[in-house]
Amino acid sequence: MPRESRKARRERASRIYDLLEREYPEARTALEHANPFELAVATILSAQCTDERVNMVTPGLFRRFPDAEALASAPLEELEEIVHSTGFFRSKARNLVGMARAVLAQHSGELPRTLAELTRLPGIGRKTANVILGNAFGLDEGVVVDTHVKRLSGRLGLSAEATPEKIERDLMEVFPRERWTPLSHLLIFHGRQVCVARKPRCGACVVAALCPSALV
Ligand code: SF4
Repeated sequence: MPRESRKARRERASRIYDLLEREYPEARTALEHANPFELAVATILSAQCTDERVNMVTPGLFRRFPDAEALASAPLEELEEIVHSTGFFRSKARNLVGMARAVLAQHSGELPRTLAELTRLPGIGRKTANVILGNAFGLDEGVVVDTHVKRLSGRLGLSAEATPEKIERDLMEVFPRERWTPLSHLLIFHGRQVCVARKPRCGACVVAALCPSALV
């Protein structure tokens, strides 16, 4: 197969995006939140856990500890019990308290709006920071690369890389900035419903004609 030029890849990527956008108009983060701080908490809890499970835990958590000030002084044992079902509960509870304390001490209780400041907070890496910036502040600073985005980027021939950082860089190169946040939602929706890990349903896929891995 001839190597695809950058221009051709961008055009193909744009058509893929348009088709997925039409297919999943409801694509957005499934993590329920009322403000940026709640989204930060929910995203920390979502590591190695389903969004549905996180959404079962957060209403009670936010009632008990509604903001950075309350969470900063949360008794660790009580917090561990509340977040227990999301897995890795000890480190998550520790990160939540550490994050809340740092937000309180360094940012007057308000979540910062830059990648550099967010990634300095305990429990927040580049992926979590991108989720917060894109979904709570409407700032497209990067593409969230989770397991679905990683798998689909490879299958769709949008990145041959293996690490989230390099895949993100490839995606940022082929998609315009204003599409970075919705792109990951579209790929996640498609990855959950059609391009599933074990046996992709290529026969039911709206982007099959644009996919080098199509099994149809
Ligand atoms: S054609 Fe198949 S492999 Fe390609 S995106 Fe669709 S479901 Fe995935």
